[in-house]
Amino acid sequence: MVPLFRLTREEARSIEVVLFDLDDTVLTHGRLTRQAFEAIWSMHDAGLALIAVTGRPGGWGEVIARQWPVLAVVAENGAALLRSEGRGVARVANDSKARLAPLVAEVRRAFPEIELADDNHARFTDVTFDIGERRAIPPERVEQLRAFVQSRGARALVSSVHLHATYEGDDKASGALRALFLLLGLDAGRARARAAFVGDSENDAACFASFRTTVGVANIAPYLPRLSVPPRFVTEKPMGAGFAELVETLLARRT
Ligand SMILES: [Mg+2]
Repeated sequence: MVPLFRLTREEARSIEVVLFDLDDTVLTHGRLTRQAFEAIWSMHDAGLALIAVTGRPGGWGEVIARQWPVLAVVAENGAALLRSEGRGVARVANDSKARLAPLVAEVRRAFPEIELADDNHARFTDVTFDIGERRAIPPERVEQLRAFVQSRGARALVSSVHLHATYEGDDKASGALRALFLLLGLDAGRARARAAFVGDSENDAACFASFRTTVGVANIAPYLPRLSVPPRFVTEKPMGAGFAELVETLLARRT
């Protein structure tokens, strides 16, 4: 991992698509700052295709795909794709959340102190527990919850704020690659070289491993031991300010 200023002009110019995580990457403690939103519009105005890649619900993705200057939102850690289509939004996602009800009941009994996240009503494919948004759950307890979910045959994906349980097979990388193929016709090889990814946490690991130009915002530091492939570049600033730093560097190197 090297500081972002080491990004070369040649590499910056080869990028056609920017994939970005939302929580603690574009969003700063859950808020979209003026600076970060401005950065998104600057990339759009510079002709870059934009896709948000998030663990947040498909229902949030529908809103973002309608309102932001993005091509699509890959939501629910890859399992849901929301693409803007004219003035509407098309959704590709299974309705598989209901299958998780027995697992959720078991978790509630075994982990009474861990609450469901407040965005579950907008999800299609996963159930999400709050580990760091409204209250902080100690890391060892998060590990116990992860093991519990996995012991029931489900998958667990962890971000800085949530633990997601799902029976779907996707991760952020598979979801992003599907979107790049469906929307832009990029096969995995070309996508790897032409799409850049920026994120901050463990559920971004698959994308750090799958794309050539990968960037962590500064607050990724505590998660590095959990990433088998770290991002190649790191920003100086955290969260939305780090995202804006990336956009400024990227656009400056392209001109
Ligand atoms: Mg994040």
